[in-house]
Amino acid sequence: MNQKVKKLLELQEIDNSIRTKERRIDNIMKKRKNLKEEIEEIKEKEKEREDRLKELKEKSQRKNERVDELQGKIEEYQERLDEGIISFKETEALEEKIEHSTERMEKLEDEAIDIMMEIDRREEERKEQESESQSSIDDKTGKIEELKNEKKETRGELNELQDSKKEVRKEIPERLISQYDRLRKTTNEPVVQIKNGVCQGCQMSVSKNTVKQARSSQGIATCENCSRILYLR
Ligand SMILES: [Zn+2]
Repeated sequence: MNQKVKKLLELQEIDNSIRTKERRIDNIMKKRKNLKEEIEEIKEKEKEREDRLKELKEKSQRKNERVDELQGKIEEYQERLDEGIISFKETEALEEKIEHSTERMEKLEDEAIDIMMEIDRREEERKEQESESQSSIDDKTGKIEELKNEKKETRGELNELQDSKKEVRKEIPERLISQYDRLRKTTNEPVVQIKNGVCQGCQMSVSKNTVKQARSSQGIATCENCSRILYLR
């Protein structure tokens, strides 16, 4: 095989490896981005659960305060009743107030108990969720770290390939390099084999002359159909 074509093949291999590594890096970045977003989502859900619980606790507190308030009022009415220096009408009004307030208080107490039970249930749930979320976050954080290392490694390999690419390009005549670069814009395989007289790039037969040219150690054979650079093994 023509030495120049051999170098071109080498360059093509390097270029394709570079492409693969660049894709891998892109992929790693995408995965990392997704994992980061998933972690944020988990944290947001945790925060929502926390906020809901906080809201419930505040609601419970307000109910209990209302109960205390009513309790105080009932005691106050009761004291006035016990003093016994009021008219029958006032007594009747006070008794009615006590009755109403007691009813209201009991209702509030029931509601407060329901809320407390809901708080307990949610707190239990949250504890379970919390450890589940944490282990999921730890897991994803570990994966992000792994990806970070993988990216670093791939970046290193990519740099090495870029260096070899520079070296190989120096060894190829400029005219051939520009031909290769031009082809490279539309294909990842600008240099292809002729197999049984067929260009492996476009699958078309090439002329006997081209085959002869590809066999010789002088000059460069190109496919009449797709312009790829050809070689014979
Ligand atoms: Zn072809």
